[in-house]
Amino acid sequence: MTTLARFPRVRLTQAPTPLEFLPNITRALGGPQIYIKRDDNTGLALGGNKTRKLEFLLGDALARGATHIVTQGATQSNHVRQTIAAANKFGLKSTVLLEERVSGAHSDYYSNGNVLLDQLLGASIETRPSGLDMNHELIAVGERLQTAGERPYLIPGGGSNAIGALGYVASAQEILQQSTDLGLRVDHVVHATGSTGTQAGLVVGLQAANSNIPVLGFSVRAPREKQIDNVRKLARQTWDLLDIRQPFDDEAVRVNANYVGAGYGLPTEGTLEAIRLLARHEGILLDPVYSGKAFAGLVDLIRQGHFRHDENIVFVHTGGAAGLFGYRDTLQPQGGVK
Ligand SMILES: *Cc1c(COP(=O)(O)O)cnc(C)c1O
Repeated sequence: MTTLARFPRVRLTQAPTPLEFLPNITRALGGPQIYIKRDDNTGLALGGNKTRKLEFLLGDALARGATHIVTQGATQSNHVRQTIAAANKFGLKSTVLLEERVSGAHSDYYSNGNVLLDQLLGASIETRPSGLDMNHELIAVGERLQTAGERPYLIPGGGSNAIGALGYVASAQEILQQSTDLGLRVDHVVHATGSTGTQAGLVVGLQAANSNIPVLGFSVRAPREKQIDNVRKLARQTWDLLDIRQPFDDEAVRVNANYVGAGYGLPTEGTLEAIRLLARHEGILLDPVYSGKAFAGLVDLIRQGHFRHDENIVFVHTGGAAGLFGYRDTLQPQGGVK
């Protein structure tokens, strides 16, 4: 197995996260056997997939003597929340840029959920209107902090560069080890794909281990071809960082973009149904931006008869339930109990 030992790393995750069978939703949908990889339970300030990437990103930041972490995301970014928490744990300051990427949102979107937690965790928070080049904004803030005597470390949106993707190489290795321990033949791995680090890391981790388990990313934003290009680009960079001799097989990157709906951060009817289905059958909380959309895609493909009954699917739960509170109006149209 490809070793990650030579990369600086801090420990933030209670690994391995559980890999569990979901009997009730499997029965309710009457299709393939559904398993879940609980990467929503990574254990840092409500957890989620960014925590794995941050193990390597914070490791690199500390190795470089950084004093201040800078990152960016949408207003309800789970990545931003987890990044602030990770920086706090290692005594680093943080400045975060929240992009108003979702139009027409209700007031909870700007004040509750991840925003509330960002404020509680205590970063310096700046907002940006949509339509700017956020990487450019990130660099500008880094320069400003440098002038002020800080040693800034810039983390791209979603923590998705080759260093961050190593976190999902590690997750792929866990899935392989756990499936061996359980005697489970995994036929498909499925998950939500956005800034691409999760899928790039999973695909690279599996391929590096000579596993040919197909990974399907459900896009939450970009059209299919664009998302495939983006994932491939990062997967190749991650492959190079790992210094693997044989060439990377591009064909391993598979994306379905049929469940994005009206756009990023805008849940569809299917998303809301998926959130309720998993909550009611398994007591597991999905989110309205990422995991709910991906699970909606999985549910629809199952209903279309896309999978055989004896196939085993691993749904990677990437977290995000903190975002539910930013979508109160959408999720609770009749109001509360009083
Ligand atoms: C960021 C995020 C994703 C997408 O992962 P990427 O690595 O950005 O593709 C999926 N689910 C949740 C809950 C997220 O916060």
